[in-house]
Amino acid sequence: MTGPRIAICGGGAIGAAIAYYTARRGAQPVVIERHAVGGAASGKSGGFLALDWCRGSALDELARRSFALHAELADALGNPWGYRGLTTFAGHAAERPRAGARRLPWLAEGVAITQQLGVPTTTAMVEPHGFTTGLMRAAEAAGATLQAGTVVELVRDPGGAARGVVLANGARLEADAVVIALGPWSLMAARWLPLPPVFGYKGHSLVFDTGDAVPAEALFLEYREASGAVLSPELVPRADGTTWVCAISALDPLPVDPAAVMPDPQALARLEAMCRRLAPALATAPIVARQACFRPVTEDGLPLIGAVPGVAGAYVATGHSVWGMLNAPATGEAMAELLLDGAARRVDLAPFAPGRLAPLDPARLGGA
Ligand SMILES: Cc1cc2nc3c(=O)[nH]c(=O)nc-3n(C[C@H](O)[C@H](O)[C@H](O)COP(=O)(O)OP(=O)(O)OC[C@H]3O[C@@H](n4cnc5c(N)ncnc54)[C@H](O)[C@@H]3O)c2cc1C
Repeated sequence: MTGPRIAICGGGAIGAAIAYYTARRGAQPVVIERHAVGGAASGKSGGFLALDWCRGSALDELARRSFALHAELADALGNPWGYRGLTTFAGHAAERPRAGARRLPWLAEGVAITQQLGVPTTTAMVEPHGFTTGLMRAAEAAGATLQAGTVVELVRDPGGAARGVVLANGARLEADAVVIALGPWSLMAARWLPLPPVFGYKGHSLVFDTGDAVPAEALFLEYREASGAVLSPELVPRADGTTWVCAISALDPLPVDPAAVMPDPQALARLEAMCRRLAPALATAPIVARQACFRPVTEDGLPLIGAVPGVAGAYVATGHSVWGMLNAPATGEAMAELLLDGAARRVDLAPFAPGRLAPLDPARLGGA
């Protein structure tokens, strides 16, 4: 007997993780992706992971479970995405530096370390594009299917239950259940389902080819520009010899087409100028990616994970904000339990119930 057919809308880390965990349980997930698997935030983010940085919040249990699953996945699937533990520090830096604080040898003189935030057993990283595509490949090996296409509507049976999706080319994909995992584009699904709003928050990043000049030390800094503006750069050195750095976020409008997301050249120039001052290794390193992406954010900052109220067969998993890479595995595992067993067992999904927030009035989305 074959398991249920599940239409998963969106091939980001969340969609890929749901596909992986449902396929391994014998279901038939189909991931529908409009642009490229890992082509949005799930391929351009920091990929930074932390065991206990969500303590005291409703995310704590999900994050701890997911941190453990990341290590398990890397082990089980051969770690093609460079998962590794990191030592993590906080500090501050300025274009006009202050003297006298603790320093790390690879950083410029003006960068002062104020606190150690993690050790390799509590903070880690994955290369996010490799992680998302690798998980999708593992899902396919377990029986999932990847389908290129743009989801434009929901298919409902006469009783109103979700029974698949309609693609932009008019094709209908029939399914027993539908999962909205469209990241910030999940907002569009509020046209067909009673879903709370999901916003996109844009972040810029650069990837430097630093070779072995940067040790496995991640940084969360406060950086004061000469103008007085304060940036919060994050540096994540990767196992492949590159270093990812981000700062400069903006509430820019989200393009309808994920392929149309472009960085703002001025933001990149500011980011590059800052990086060149932070470390000699960054001052000279070639830049191998200049990019921007949108993270999905809800009104209360918590993800939406669960059944959509009032529409049988419809589910949502999005709004993971700054912790989507960290929380993808536990979200995938919990969604597989919910879809296939009727309830999540390992993690309590109650804090993430989509019904906790008022649904968006579809009229507010206009006709575009
Ligand atoms: C600058 C930045 C840094 C970050 N750093 C970290 C970090 O260090 N650690 C961490 O845990 N998280 C981090 N995040 C957050 C993380 O990247 C996101 O939470 C996560 O990638 C969201 O994954 P997703 O699968 O929900 O969405 P996405 O990755 O956005 O995937 C959604 C997919 O849906 C597709 N799609 C859109 N419309 C359609 C349609 N109509 N039909 C079919 N497909 C469609 C898109 O093409 C896309 O592939 C960061 C985010 C940003 C922006």
